[in-house]
Amino acid sequence: MENVLYLVIPCYNEEEVLPETAARLKKKMNDLVGRNKVDQKSRVIFVNDGSKDNTWNIITKLHEQDKLFGGINLYRNRGHQNALLAGLLTVKDYADMVISMDADLQDDINAVDEMVDKYLSGVDIVYGVRSSRQKDSFFKKATAEGFYKAMNSLGANTVFNHADYRLMSRRAIEGLAQYKEVNLFLRGIVPTIGYPTDVVYYERGERFAGESKYPLKKMLSFAIEGITSFSTKPIRMITGLGFLIFLVSIGMLIYSLIRHFMGATIVGWTTLMGSMWAIGGLILLSLGVVGEYVGKIYLETKARPRFMVEQFINEEE
Ligand code: UDP
Ligand code: MG
Repeated sequence: MENVLYLVIPCYNEEEVLPETAARLKKKMNDLVGRNKVDQKSRVIFVNDGSKDNTWNIITKLHEQDKLFGGINLYRNRGHQNALLAGLLTVKDYADMVISMDADLQDDINAVDEMVDKYLSGVDIVYGVRSSRQKDSFFKKATAEGFYKAMNSLGANTVFNHADYRLMSRRAIEGLAQYKEVNLFLRGIVPTIGYPTDVVYYERGERFAGESKYPLKKMLSFAIEGITSFSTKPIRMITGLGFLIFLVSIGMLIYSLIRHFMGATIVGWTTLMGSMWAIGGLILLSLGVVGEYVGKIYLETKARPRFMVEQFINEEE
């Protein structure tokens, strides 16, 4: 078995960090090749996600200077997740294992050694998990951790405190390639692929230059993306709410009838109260029912693979 390692790094307006990132990665890769951990055909591939600055120029320069570096230039900005997928699917036929990481190296690159070791011991997917978030602001930490918890309680099993720093074997990426969905939330999809997995812990550092390309607005839409692409539970909540309000309406009907027979109401109040609650409840309930079917259609249109064969043993004559 050859051990060709490819690093895939999405870059959006990263001219400030790229030279330093490239230097650090070169050192790391040379070290790994020198210790015979990975094959010398291993590469570092930067995916330019339609940057408006000099990013692509820097990537082409790096490539000219050293064959270790390669690049993929996307036609326009498609967002981190799409850039990452583009990278993974483009390099999968050249590599035995692929590690994805961010251009700012906030995720400690020393975890790469351990990831490779785990791969060599037969693991297909190795998740990089942040052991602590001391360097993140309180706000980022609280929102991010709350998000992972919400995701899991809604039924999408993401790995807690794992972003997109992970190693995937070629066959795991082949599996990923079978997911045809357009709304990408990779860290939700990858755990559903299957195959042996493991985790590696590391400390998350600070961005050493440039600014975060994930402002609050993008973070929020990413979170909503994550929930709506993995869970149809919000629809079920509507159904539940409708049922609840319908129950309340029966209570209200009884209450207003009692008031009516006690003569404590004005004309029309009883019918109005009863019908208002009943109709509200029924509308929500039917919305929920319609929603259930919409949810089914949603899951069908994703056309996710229904199974992933890990091994097939069979004796042919
Ligand atoms: N990124 C990208 N396309 C985008 C936004 C971000 O490829 O539209 C890349 C970015 O260059 C970086 C990674 O995604 O390599 C993570 O972004 P960032 O470090 O800014 O996010 P944060 O660490 O602040 O969450
Ligand atoms: Mg970052």
